[in-house]
Order: sequence, then structure tokens, then C-alpha cells
Amino acid sequence: MKNLRPDSWIVAAGRPDRTADASLNAPISFTSTYVAPNVIGYGRSGNETWSALESAISGLEGGQTLLFSSGLASIAAVFALLPDHSIIVAPRNCYTGTMYWLKRLESERQCTVRYVDVADTADILEALRGANFLWMESPTNPALEVADLPVIIAAAKKLGVGVGVDNTFATGLLQQPLAMGADISMNSVTKFLSGHSDLIMGSLSINDEALFNRLATERKQGGAIPGAMEVWLALRGLRTLDVRLERAQKNALELARRLQEHPSVESVRYPGLPSDPFHKVAASFMKGFGAIVSFEVKGGSQAADKACNSSELIAHATSLGGVETLWERRHRWEGESVHIPENLIRLAVGIENVEDLWADIDQALRA
Ligand SMILES: *Cc1c(COP(=O)(O)O)cnc(C)c1O
Repeated sequence: MKNLRPDSWIVAAGRPDRTADASLNAPISFTSTYVAPNVIGYGRSGNETWSALESAISGLEGGQTLLFSSGLASIAAVFALLPDHSIIVAPRNCYTGTMYWLKRLESERQCTVRYVDVADTADILEALRGANFLWMESPTNPALEVADLPVIIAAAKKLGVGVGVDNTFATGLLQQPLAMGADISMNSVTKFLSGHSDLIMGSLSINDEALFNRLATERKQGGAIPGAMEVWLALRGLRTLDVRLERAQKNALELARRLQEHPSVESVRYPGLPSDPFHKVAASFMKGFGAIVSFEVKGGSQAADKACNSSELIAHATSLGGVETLWERRHRWEGESVHIPENLIRLAVGIENVEDLWADIDQALRA
């Protein structure tokens, strides 16, 4: 089993040993406690269903994995380990929940956050001098900027700076931050890994045993643990990640191409478009360009809201990474970065027939 490629591993991993009449699938272990003598002991420390999904994500990302009750809970566990007065290098545009945490680290824990443009490698390398920790997100949400992760991570490690990467938009199928030298690769399991918009969960995959143990303690003491039912559903979803992503990426590229030509569209961002400013860097190390497309519509925020409210097949909802296509104007949320245009719509592309998606987008933009 050790030499399987990641797309086979996620199908095969996390199953019971093949003894006579063994169940093919991991059981859902609904229990709060375990009979003594113990390895796990109590249900806040571990669970057999978690172990199944953790081993599957570990093979996808490399390293050892811990599940959390949400993606944001896993990010909070990482930041909890940073000492007061830390100097942190982080993207100026990234997931809004991460930005809230960075602001709290500044106001409550006397940390200094050096906000960087993830595309400006030279500026990041400069900002790393004297820093304790680098948090990267790439591609970024929702600007779809791509950081030159292999170069940036190598530079950070050379300077002894700890590195965590939010890998949610790419997943371990498209890029593996741990193999590039990062200490932590984080996923919002809510999104592509589980893939059906039916649960909230996060994961941290970690290369180093001492760091793994500190984060396991943080999870146990912070208590941000997932439920067994959600974990089982996420593992079931993960089995099909490769085929879902393949179809969604194909749809995303086609929709991005057509949006570029649409009379109501000002500009399109998708790293898979050869004309995209991030195409070259993404192609240099990513195995695919993901399934999120962002675009700006003519007529400002009102036109963008009108389009999002006029779709029929596509749901007007936040989130991404599910089989169903969703869209929204990002600035409908308070806390979205000032660097994101008011008229930007994030289209989270699913696996429907691309012609049906296009017909819906076209009629909504003309509404
Ligand atoms: C959704 C998301 C998160 C937060 O994950 P939750 O599971 O919603 O807590 C973090 N980072 C990115 C890039 C996301 O898209």
C-alpha cells in the first residue's frame, strides 16, 4: 500500500485489515470513551473513524494528520502555538477568517504581521528576515493569486522560519506543501476533500513529530474535535476527489474562457487561462489549476448582486469545493479584503454539464 499514487491512495486508505468477513469500510465509531487499559482513553483524544480519514489525508499530503471541527479551528490551533510578540509573514488577501485571526494576533498578542502580496516573491523573501512564522495561502481566496511556493518555502526554511500553508484551493492532489519543506499543510475539509457541501471540518498535516504532538495537545485541550458521523461522510467524499476535481477543473477552464468573451464581464481570473498573470508560475509546480474562477462584472456591485440573484441552476451561496456550482459577490461579507474589487464574483465550479452551467451564467449576466 505504501507506493500507491495519491489518487489510488485516497480510494484504498483508511479501511479495516482484510481479515475474514472484515467490513470493507471503516465503521462509524459513536463513542465518548474507551474501556481500560487505554491507548485512546477518551473521545476528545482520538476515535477509530478519525484515524481512517486521518490516514487517508496523510497519504495525500505526506506527513501525519490531525482532524479538527472546522478549517478555521485548525488554523486557530496553529496560531495558538505562536509566542506573543511573534513576527508573522502572511498574505494581504486570504481567507477572511484567517484575516480576523491575524488582526487578533496583532491587537491581543502583540504580534507583528507583515502583510505581503503572495505574487511578489522578492518582497516575501525580504519580509522573512527576522520573522518567526510564514503563513501562505495559494491560490488565494478569492483573488486566485498564486505564490511561487517551492521558492518561498525553501527560503523560509533556510532562514529557520516556520511555515504553514492553507492548501484548501489546491488540495494534496495539485500541490504538496510538505514535500516542498513546509511544516504544516492545512485543509478546510469542508471544501474539496469532502466535496458535497454537507459538513464542516478541517485538517492539519504535519512533517515533524514534536510539532505534531504539540498540535495534538492543542486539539485535545482546545476541544475542537469533529463528530464521527461527519468524519465518515468526509472519508466517503474523499474517495472521489480525483474524478470530481478533474471534471470541475475542466468545467472551470471552459467557463473562464467563455466569461472572457462575455459582453457583461470586465475581467476574469483563473490561473488555467494562458493569459492569466499567474499561469506561468502555477504551471511550473501545480498539477492543475483548481476549480475556482473569479470575475468582475460591468456595472459594479449592483450588477454583480443582480447576476448572483438571477441564477437558477447555480446556487447563490458561499463556500466552494462541492459537486454543485455556487457563486457570490465576495464583498457581500463584511471583512473581505480591501484589495478585492466590489464587483468581483467568486464562481466555485462543480461537476454539472458545462453547457447547463454556461446557459445559466449567460442568462443571469443578461438579467
Ligand atoms: C473555507 C476556508 C477556510 C475555513 O474553513 P472552514 O471549514 O469553513 O472553517 C480556510 N481557508 C480557506 C482557503 C477556505 O476556503
